[in-house]
Amino acid sequence: MRSTSPVWHPFTQHAVQGEIPTIVRTEGAWLEAEDGHRIFDAISSWWVVTHGHRYPPIMAAIRAETERLDQVIFAGFTHPPAEALARELVAITAPELTHVFYSDSGSTAVEVALKMALGFWLHSGENRRRILALEGAYHGDTIGGMSVGERGVFNAPYEPLLFDVGRLPFPHHGREQQTLDALDAACRDHAVAALIVEPLILGAGGMLIYAPAVLAEMARICRRHGVLLIADEVMTGWGRTGALFACEQAGVAPDIACTSKGLTGGVIPLAATLCSEPIFAAHYDEDRRKTFFHSSSYTANPIACAAALANVKVWQSEPVIQRIAALAAIHAKALDRFRGDKRFENIRQLGSIAALDLVVPDAGYLADIGPRLYRHFLARDLLVRPLGNTIYLMPPYCSTEAEIGRVYDAIAAIEL
Ligand code: PMP
Repeated sequence: MRSTSPVWHPFTQHAVQGEIPTIVRTEGAWLEAEDGHRIFDAISSWWVVTHGHRYPPIMAAIRAETERLDQVIFAGFTHPPAEALARELVAITAPELTHVFYSDSGSTAVEVALKMALGFWLHSGENRRRILALEGAYHGDTIGGMSVGERGVFNAPYEPLLFDVGRLPFPHHGREQQTLDALDAACRDHAVAALIVEPLILGAGGMLIYAPAVLAEMARICRRHGVLLIADEVMTGWGRTGALFACEQAGVAPDIACTSKGLTGGVIPLAATLCSEPIFAAHYDEDRRKTFFHSSSYTANPIACAAALANVKVWQSEPVIQRIAALAAIHAKALDRFRGDKRFENIRQLGSIAALDLVVPDAGYLADIGPRLYRHFLARDLLVRPLGNTIYLMPPYCSTEAEIGRVYDAIAAIEL
């Protein structure tokens, strides 16, 4: 039956969705529905919540900031939370990243990154406009983000709006050299401005993992050809892969890095695109046409910046990496029981993320099994949103072994 609510939900086919739970309270790794029952948030509410829902120091920082500031125009003005946060972000990322541009979502962080890259080359007097991206990538749902993302079901209707990019094969295990060779060949074209990658793991593209050594080699090839490297750390940032940022695991310093989601601990929207000094310098000119023409009304919202600053302090004062390591050990132990189980294949894990594929005749995002799996988990009070036949867990770092065990028990109970 068609819902009477006027709300149109994201990535939701209302014709098949079924009833949509109304959540009235969140706590730790749990969502509480209006009828009182609790749902375990095994995917951190779309990968944003890191320490747990309503993590006290972050909520306290938000409350405190609301006593001082609301929104302040960020063109020609600044404020303490934005300044302090930018200094922290520069301090905790690669030393090459020296400037911080704020926006509001992962998609806008990517748009900003692409615009920075093109602006850099234009203002440097070189005609480099082509972007390279990985097959299967997902970088958001704005036009630029969709353009660099894999073409397919997510963006097919908008194809006429999307710009052409150079696509590199995903570095599947054993076939990494193909990717590196394709990158090297593509970079010989002097029109290439930048390569954009999700470091170490494709998120919405199916939780596909590749080795840090491959990322490091991609960075070296880019450097050799003067091609900018954009790291989209929107999903991978803030500990998901076991390190604060995934690039650290490969010893890679990108020219541009995008962060959002866990930036505020997942409480409130905020994004930042960090860039190197040469990129800022290329836009720094008395010629006002070289201004970086990107804005959004809510750029660097002070309350969001205060939340992010509190999140950085949590990272500095609490053993977050150890919590993630403990979570990774729980996954590793739990995944073992599915090895040799004929229903599953490609059992994999990176830090706090675990994934496995169900063996079905129609793999992919629209696999028939997808909606059935979603209902299977929801019926057990578990929020798991399989990507087609790919089941993954990405729980908040406060999740316990018993909580995570419930999800693995539910996976074990799947009947094909
Ligand atoms: N990049 C990556 C790697 C993502 O996973 C996502 C969102 N899942 C985005 C960009 C877009 O972020 P947002 O949904 O906040 O716009």
